[in-house]
Amino acid sequence: MTVQSQTRPVAGAIPQPQQFASDNYSGICPEAWAAMAEANSGYAPAYGEDPWTQRASDAFRQLFETNCEIFFVFNGTAANSLALSALCQSYHSVICAESAHVETDECGAPEFFSNGSKLLVAASPGGKLTPDSIREVALKRQDIHYPKPRVVTITQSTETGQVYSLAEIRAISATCRELGLKLHMDGARFANACAHLGCSPAEMTWQSGVDVLCFGGTKNGMGVGEAVLFFNPVLAEDFDYRCKQAGQLASKMRFLAAPWVGLMETGAWISNARHSNHCAKRLAAQIADVPGVELMFPVEANAVFLRAPEGVLEKLRARGWRFYTFIGGGARFMFAWDASPARVDELASDIKAVAES
Ligand SMILES: *Cc1c(COP(=O)(O)O)cnc(C)c1O
Repeated sequence: MTVQSQTRPVAGAIPQPQQFASDNYSGICPEAWAAMAEANSGYAPAYGEDPWTQRASDAFRQLFETNCEIFFVFNGTAANSLALSALCQSYHSVICAESAHVETDECGAPEFFSNGSKLLVAASPGGKLTPDSIREVALKRQDIHYPKPRVVTITQSTETGQVYSLAEIRAISATCRELGLKLHMDGARFANACAHLGCSPAEMTWQSGVDVLCFGGTKNGMGVGEAVLFFNPVLAEDFDYRCKQAGQLASKMRFLAAPWVGLMETGAWISNARHSNHCAKRLAAQIADVPGVELMFPVEANAVFLRAPEGVLEKLRARGWRFYTFIGGGARFMFAWDASPARVDELASDIKAVAES
């Protein structure tokens, strides 16, 4: 990365064509932006003592139909790492999928913030944990020489764009209860999962046995910010101190809270997710029958993963498309709240063209 070493702005004013390399390439949605603008007037108490933080917290409690504890942090790595560290002692372990963001994309932050709680990777064909895979890891060793399993973490929707059904979550939480484990949900794309299942946030979380949720705001249309929700207030004890120590307590907290008010009070959180999911389906439908190109996973949330010969991917890059291949082993396209359907169609026709050339 050379971004930080650039001394002059490069092409800042030239609009770039929309890219689907990640849903965090997008900007801030109008509802979140408007709430930030509204919050940007006058003075307000700092460190979360302001009316916006109160309003955002209340909006979460209303949306989740429960009196949960809510904390606003800057990013997902912090949300996940601090939530997991709140559930663990240093000698505990956390069971996760091989493909879990906490395992593959957080630079050891969960272990760092928990002072050493070890992540234990469970078999997860298709990117999902199952009661059997959890049981296998949790019961493999029960002696004092091995870190004691304490938490299971699942990603909803998964890193490869699938969604755990309510039945799957409930089966996992039943296994957790049986084994004395807590259940954490990495919801960086929680809204996309809700949009896919058409269920309420309450049904997908505490009513299905989830103890702690990290709800992603960034990929849902905010500029910065994730929320950590504790459905059992006992687990949230001293979490405010944990956030502060980790550098995650915003002094002008109203600007981390206000965009949530915008997303929640207008319903943009779910309409943004519905739109991005539709764009993924729109691409998948157009390329399903292209010879030599294969959908790697069922398209349920806002991601499409393609398997195609390297030559085909090279030609796609040459046409200016950006995408990653280090996740899931194929070309990933990921749609955001403002994905343009016309641009999705351009991508589909370029995929067809390069596959047939
Ligand atoms: C994006 C993402 C996160 C958060 O990542 P940050 O870059 O730390 O904000 C967490 N989990 C998953 C599955 C993600 O895709």
